Amino acid sequence: MIPFFDIKAENKVHIDSFTKELQLFMHSGQYIMGDAVRNFEQKYAAFCGSNYCVGTSNGLDALRLIFEGYKSLGQLQDGDEVLVPAHTYIATALAVIQSGLKPVFVEPSDGSFNMDVEQAEQLTTSSVKACLVVHLYGQLVDVNLFRTFAKKHGILLIEDAAQAHGAVSQNGQKAGAIGDAAAFSFYPTKNIGALGDAGAVTTNNELLAKEIKTLQNYGSPKKYVHEKVGFNMRLDALQARFLSLKLVNYTTDCERRIAIASRYLDEINNSKILLPTCELDGSHVFHLFVVRVANRNDFMEFLTTRGVGSLVHYPIPPHKQKALSEYNQLSLPLTKKYHNEVVSIPLYTSLSENQVQHIIDVLNAY
Ligand SMILES: *Cc1c(COP(=O)(O)O)cnc(C)c1O
Repeated sequence: MIPFFDIKAENKVHIDSFTKELQLFMHSGQYIMGDAVRNFEQKYAAFCGSNYCVGTSNGLDALRLIFEGYKSLGQLQDGDEVLVPAHTYIATALAVIQSGLKPVFVEPSDGSFNMDVEQAEQLTTSSVKACLVVHLYGQLVDVNLFRTFAKKHGILLIEDAAQAHGAVSQNGQKAGAIGDAAAFSFYPTKNIGALGDAGAVTTNNELLAKEIKTLQNYGSPKKYVHEKVGFNMRLDALQARFLSLKLVNYTTDCERRIAIASRYLDEINNSKILLPTCELDGSHVFHLFVVRVANRNDFMEFLTTRGVGSLVHYPIPPHKQKALSEYNQLSLPLTKKYHNEVVSIPLYTSLSENQVQHIIDVLNAY
């Protein structure tokens, strides 16, 4: 059986260096914040090509802190509207709602899984103050289109880059340095995964970075001085150490992911399976390889019986979840269609060429 994802195999190459790092950590006596966190923040900012990085407790909190930071700076107010993609993981919308803002759900564009800029344009009223794009499945949104759109309306452009570490547009704009601020998740199954919860905010805005640093640490710019009603949303120091080690070889990991995707795109040839529309130029880092089929249950069953794991990202759209009941009546036909058709097939760095071949053979035999 080829599992959909093999997290133990993915982390196996790091076990020796992680074990040494754990020893250093235990003897350091510095278990909250400190040099390890600062070190990772510097490395990750440099990796993204952004001026500042603030490590956070997880990806949801990274998004939360961006919104809370802008509110604290007076650039967003309670009740302001934020454009969000309807086709995404629920965290995107939750961060907006939990920050006292209102999500405005935008359909994906036909043929891509990402937010459609024309629909975003149509939904932009004077109440809309920000656009939260998601580089879904690891694929960058059309960077130039969205930057132009945000600029034209004078609204903030925020990236949910939780699935897109290292994705870079053709003209060199990297996830995390595209919008006004970006949120990353290092949840263990993400392209750069910690051994627990972790996340980060990147931005070129010094004031925002400072505000977020204060807010994430009890609103305290200085020990026992509290200027804001803050949170505890700090990046764990041990995870920061692991992440610094993982970052070293991440570019190679990305290349491996793209190489597997390239084989899938070239060699899967079956009229019943719709392959994703994407480029192999680095603008998609293939957090997930998502195909579309008409009869999903049948297809997934076929894969299972032939030893290929698969998953659905995601089976129920956020606006149809009970938690978001006030949005349940929205009609978003393309989002609904995609949610009914998408299937993710295995794509991770520890897959062997034989396994990749088997996956291709099984999909072609469907
Ligand atoms: C994983 C993910 C998040 C949330 O990250 P956590 O670290 O789990 O809080 C947010 N948005 C998207 C698109 C994600 O995939």
